Amino acid sequence: MTDAAIVGTGPNGLAAAITLARAGLSVTLFEKADTIGGGLRSTPLFDRDVTHDICSAVHPMAAASAFFRQFELPARGVPLLQPDMPYAHPLSNGTAAVAWRSIYHTASHLGPDGPRWMKLMAPLTNRSTEVVGLFLSPQRSLPRSLATPLLLAQRVLAHSTSRTPFTTERARALLTGVAAHAVGKLPSLTSTAVALLLGHLAHSSGWPLPQGGSTRIADAMAADITAHGGAIHTGHPIKDLTELSAFPIVMLDIAPKAFLDMAGPRHTLPARYRNALRSYAYGPGAAKADFLVNAPIPWANPLVGKAGTVHLGGTRADILRQETATAASRRADAPFVLVVDPAVTDPSRACGHKRPVWAYAHVPHGDTRDPVDLIRRRIEDYAPGFTDTVIAARGLSAAQYEEYNPNYVGGDIAAGALTLRQSLARPTPRWDPYTTPLPRVYLCSASTPPGPGVHGMCGYFAALSALRRHHALRTSPDLSPKKRDGETN
Ligand SMILES: Cc1cc2nc3c(=O)[nH]c(=O)nc-3n(C[C@H](O)[C@H](O)[C@H](O)COP(=O)(O)OP(=O)(O)OC[C@H]3O[C@@H](n4cnc5c(N)ncnc54)[C@H](O)[C@@H]3O)c2cc1C
Repeated sequence: MTDAAIVGTGPNGLAAAITLARAGLSVTLFEKADTIGGGLRSTPLFDRDVTHDICSAVHPMAAASAFFRQFELPARGVPLLQPDMPYAHPLSNGTAAVAWRSIYHTASHLGPDGPRWMKLMAPLTNRSTEVVGLFLSPQRSLPRSLATPLLLAQRVLAHSTSRTPFTTERARALLTGVAAHAVGKLPSLTSTAVALLLGHLAHSSGWPLPQGGSTRIADAMAADITAHGGAIHTGHPIKDLTELSAFPIVMLDIAPKAFLDMAGPRHTLPARYRNALRSYAYGPGAAKADFLVNAPIPWANPLVGKAGTVHLGGTRADILRQETATAASRRADAPFVLVVDPAVTDPSRACGHKRPVWAYAHVPHGDTRDPVDLIRRRIEDYAPGFTDTVIAARGLSAAQYEEYNPNYVGGDIAAGALTLRQSLARPTPRWDPYTTPLPRVYLCSASTPPGPGVHGMCGYFAALSALRRHHALRTSPDLSPKKRDGETN
């Protein structure tokens, strides 16, 4: 009999399975879709030699997270390729703000705001391990030292109002573009916290792309699971928890909405918990366009062509307006768009002159618009001639994202709005957020702390919680690629 069932094979489901399997438990994974990976899938869409990332493409969180650092993707044949310029933010008239790996180089391009950028980011990069440890934690215990929380708190407060300490549009837009990754009303405490986490990572462990596409991360994780005796069943949706009654531990890589359905009337969840799950809020949506193009994106400012990720939102004031409208369910004609041309960082992603372009727009929750034209026009604004390079395109609206993966409720790719409350008490205010009132059932998706992104930490912490409760194991199992005693391959 298998010790644990894991429902869903996103990065968190896979991380939970690896952690349990490495502790010696036998694990069985059930995945609704025909392929594993959740937000880590990549596939050829138009040309068999050109792979597109369907969800995530860029991995600052995977490069920084304690789970993936122990798991060591590069040692498993998945190099994390670093662009010299993690992100860029084109502005009108061909100007652009850019963030280099080097904080000094970045500051030197920001004129009078250069020293302010240094003052904001340098203390965080100097203690990046503590900053990441604080953000990517279950957020239920006080850190040993208050130095890092205080450093962060000062910075969050200073940059969370409509006034900003920066005086140049370039520095304002550069930081606000990163804050927009929080997908919600701007400015806010949580979006500034996200900006500081991702912003400082650009100057420390970077914003890398896995060589060959995001699916390589999922494949390496699955290989570790099967090497440790785990079984993975794809095309196998779990509709009701009764299907898993035989498993002593059940880990759910799903959103609270699906948990309510799955628990059904047969599993009596206390009314209070049920109501808390019902009131869990989902945020604005993402609508994605994948393009097959025949040339690098013709950015008006050629410097932008060096960036791993490009933020299209215009000035800080423009972004605040767009994001606040989107959060209030109003469609913006020129929404915030993120663009990645993966072959800039990973030339193996191009085949001859053909290459993929990955882009998504922030749109209202549940929006049904095909985003291809909207996004194409947005790129064209900053890269005249882009349209002429497009060979083929496919759009996925926010509503279609939920059909594709029920964790993205209304197209919310964060699996729950990043409000202050939901950043601290995700999905419900509970001392151990991974437990549920059903003693053998755990939640481990991005709807639990530390939230969205490919870092595996939700799955890792949920698995540690289950190991503590069911097996009295208090230490984390070894996750490194080295062989176990007696293993030959
Ligand atoms: C367009 C887009 C772009 C993104 N870009 C980035 C990025 O560049 N970098 C980054 O770090 N993050 C990015 N993300 C976010 C990231 O992909 C998610 O935060 C992450 O995948 C969440 O992992 P998870 O394991 O919690 O859930 P998911 O990855 O959503 O996986 C959940 C899995 O559970 C399966 N499932 C659900 N219900 C059932 C059921 N009943 N039975 C069986 N299986 C089920 C689903 O099919 C899915 O495979 C992006 C997401 C999207 C959609």
